[in-house]
Amino acid sequence: MNHAQQELPGSTAKSPPWLEVVLEKGASLPATDIFPGVDELIERFESFAARRPDLVHRSRIGTSRLGESIPMYSFGTGTMNHLIVAGVHPNEPIGAITALHLAQSLIEDDPFLAVLDAQWHIVPCIDPDGARLNEHWFGRPDDRCFYSRHFYRPARDEQVEWSFPTDYKQAYFDNVIPESQALMRAIDQVKPDLYVALHNGEMGGVYYYLSRPVEELHGALHAIPAHLGLPLDTGEPESPHLEEYAPAIFGMGTVAEAYDFYEALGVDPLSAVSGSSSSEYASRHGTLSLVAELPYWIHPDSDDQTPTDETYRALLLRTAKESKVLHRILQDLLQSAEPFLTLKTPFLTALQDFLPRFEASIEADLRRAELQAAVRPATVAERFGREDVVHCFRLRYGGMLMRALKAETEAGLAHPKVHKLLALALSTYVTWETMATRADNAQAVAIQTLAGAQYAATLAGALVLQEREQ
Ligand SMILES: [Zn+2]
Repeated sequence: MNHAQQELPGSTAKSPPWLEVVLEKGASLPATDIFPGVDELIERFESFAARRPDLVHRSRIGTSRLGESIPMYSFGTGTMNHLIVAGVHPNEPIGAITALHLAQSLIEDDPFLAVLDAQWHIVPCIDPDGARLNEHWFGRPDDRCFYSRHFYRPARDEQVEWSFPTDYKQAYFDNVIPESQALMRAIDQVKPDLYVALHNGEMGGVYYYLSRPVEELHGALHAIPAHLGLPLDTGEPESPHLEEYAPAIFGMGTVAEAYDFYEALGVDPLSAVSGSSSSEYASRHGTLSLVAELPYWIHPDSDDQTPTDETYRALLLRTAKESKVLHRILQDLLQSAEPFLTLKTPFLTALQDFLPRFEASIEADLRRAELQAAVRPATVAERFGREDVVHCFRLRYGGMLMRALKAETEAGLAHPKVHKLLALALSTYVTWETMATRADNAQAVAIQTLAGAQYAATLAGALVLQEREQ
């Protein structure tokens, strides 16, 4: 019995007839060891359009904040319409390879895709400005420390994924950035049956989000990583309010659900929510949304359900304490630097947004530790996940802090105090790098394997929808 045929809890007992082909497709991507930059990515899509003008239609869905055109490429014709969007978080480029492979397969008339009877609409890069700020590490993606030092993730209201309109209780958001307006246009134009926002995780295992439970899809979503040798991430979800449909498969959740969860917990909901997700927006068209989160680095602990000798409450308290220390260090460095910073860089904006949200999430963890439900043994997967979030935030946000300071030094604008703070931040950062490296034992996964899993999950989503139509 191979992994793909094993039954996992929550999986459907009977494998669908197409599963074997989907697994094979996911394992067949050509090898690659870098992520493409924005220019190369768009050039590749332009070459597809030039090669097959009979099949590919390019349209412009919008313009980035810095003035870059955002194209969408529509392939063929079909009864169903699927929208595939890469770069929704600019630090998550696995989807660029997934999108390229799907496009390549479409222009080569892969008979399997022809059977799907769908028009595929692909946005290769919805946030080119943000992607360009990550390009430095795209050529060296296997080194977690190098990645983190050159990492950029926008402030929440500037993330395409989380800046759709919201109006719920005291939460109101309508300051929609141009990139999200572009995606709104694409969603309203395509009215997708399937919408795949190509996100990815960072460390641990594979997990998914669905906008609604789709029983016949869950088994395939488990079989795909098993076939490719990737562990699931069966620790806790990224946000504690999310519903678990099956192991490592979560509901997308809504702003209203998040708001009510934090309100009931006694934490200010406005510290945790702002705009809605693109998937919540797409739901107006009856769209099924799918997100496949793949990690650059895997760790076996992420799928280990063995109970530890630490309670979940103790784990929450321990990691919240470490997070508080981290928050204080970042806050002190930032506040010391702010009076001397002359450049309002995206790194600075992101940090100024992240730190209060981080503080609120620590408060939520402390409240959750008080609940009776927290008095139970934590699993190995939960321990790994929670410990790694601390490492992740040290490296990511410490990295962005240094980039904010370096922008001043490299532009020749830095006050002597900024030079000193940068040296101090760097010495702390090196310690964090050592701690993370010791703990995570990072095992990098081949990029084609990660994109292959996303590609297979996308095909599985399309196949399930097609089966339901028949
Ligand atoms: Zn993401």
